[in-house]
Amino acid sequence: MGHSFRTIIEPFRIHSVEPLRMTTAEDRSAAIEQSGFNLFNLHAEDVLIDLLTDSGTGAMSRDQWAAIQHGDESYAGSPSWFRFEAAVKDLFPFEHIIPTHQGRAAEKILFTVVGGADKIVPNNTHFDTTRANVEASGAEARDLVISEGHDAATIHPFKGNMDLDALDALLAERASDVPVVFLTITNNSGGGQPVSLANIRGVSEICRRYGVPFFLDACRFAENAWFIHEREAGQGDRTIADIVREIASLADGMTMSAKKDPFGNIGGWLAMNDDALAENCRNILILTEGFPTYGGLAGRDLEAIAQGLKEAVHPDYLRYRIRSTAYLGDALDAAGVPVVKPIGGHAVYLDAKALLGHVPALEYPGQSLAIALYKVGGIRSCEIGTVMFGRQPDGSEKPAAMELVRLAIPRRTYTQSHIDYVIEVVTAVANDAAALSGYRMVHEPAALRHFTARYEPLAS
Ligand SMILES: *Cc1c(COP(=O)(O)O)cnc(C)c1O
Repeated sequence: MGHSFRTIIEPFRIHSVEPLRMTTAEDRSAAIEQSGFNLFNLHAEDVLIDLLTDSGTGAMSRDQWAAIQHGDESYAGSPSWFRFEAAVKDLFPFEHIIPTHQGRAAEKILFTVVGGADKIVPNNTHFDTTRANVEASGAEARDLVISEGHDAATIHPFKGNMDLDALDALLAERASDVPVVFLTITNNSGGGQPVSLANIRGVSEICRRYGVPFFLDACRFAENAWFIHEREAGQGDRTIADIVREIASLADGMTMSAKKDPFGNIGGWLAMNDDALAENCRNILILTEGFPTYGGLAGRDLEAIAQGLKEAVHPDYLRYRIRSTAYLGDALDAAGVPVVKPIGGHAVYLDAKALLGHVPALEYPGQSLAIALYKVGGIRSCEIGTVMFGRQPDGSEKPAAMELVRLAIPRRTYTQSHIDYVIEVVTAVANDAAALSGYRMVHEPAALRHFTARYEPLAS
């Protein structure tokens, strides 16, 4: 009779399991040293709880595995392609859907066509691959998130929002240099924070006024729509799919990584309404990815994504997903660990600047914290700070706006007891944070340096 219970339960039970390999602190110290203190270089089997990314790491459902059996590997016009295209268009009814092997391939194609020197691409916050692809074309990537989005501790329900005044001012001055305006939902590099429907409508209105195309980086569209459903006035009675369709209707196209909300282990797409742009993009697709009815994907991948898209907008799943991420963040917050607030959709972001105030930005406090989490508890996380964003196009290095360590939660993969263990480890590391020292980069690749850089610890 009207009871309500606090415990978040996973809205699924386990159908097949993968073993986790236990390691000792000595094993992990040796492994991280061998990896040049870069967590991307670790063997995944040496990691206990892998929170490096939520990209491609989710657990597929029974129905996705079944769909894989329907994969039709015809080179052209496979029925798997038509099922994929229909599933994408059901949520994002753009004219042209161009399949790619992952999100950055969609970005590379788009910016090859529309980027170039003297151009400028605004975004709330560019994701690392998006920024790199904009810059590789010669264009400037400009972040215009609202000021609340730069401060880890400020509470705002839609901290991923675009600064509409700044966007309007930029377009008033330089609209002819702006080939496209981007909006990342949710704002991954800015703490996984959502963008409100009102803000998306605002960006759309400004872009239409200046005649500039508006594209979504929609990797976490379902999580963003859930936040709109929960937090925005008047949206609570709509279905998630209905909110997503309205978001799509406000834009002219999108880039997408199907490794995020659609539960793909691989995949992505580029979509748009403009016929001439689509033709240019398909020409590059054929050069670099594949024929337009499979892009960079096998028929079986197209099937898995088509089914995953249906599951991604289910309210039971999204309620569990967002609440279980908040469970981790709220517990760390209660234990006094500084985290980006409010808690985002797919990840909890530790504030390394607050925790390691004694380590200067150019000695990479976030990297130091991420290494400690691995050494102490076998947890793999990802620095999102000066390592990722510090190197400037002019060759200089400067501190990033925030020094974050992201604990990304793979979808449907870990149980609450795994997360309870993470809470214990992070709290223990945070309590001893004053003893952590900085790092020096001893090998730095030319682009996206965080993936393959090597480091040495500085004496504390
Ligand atoms: C993951 C991601 C991308 C790139 O997608 P990949 O599939 O990793 O190439 C682009 N934008 C955002 C916001 C992302 O999270």
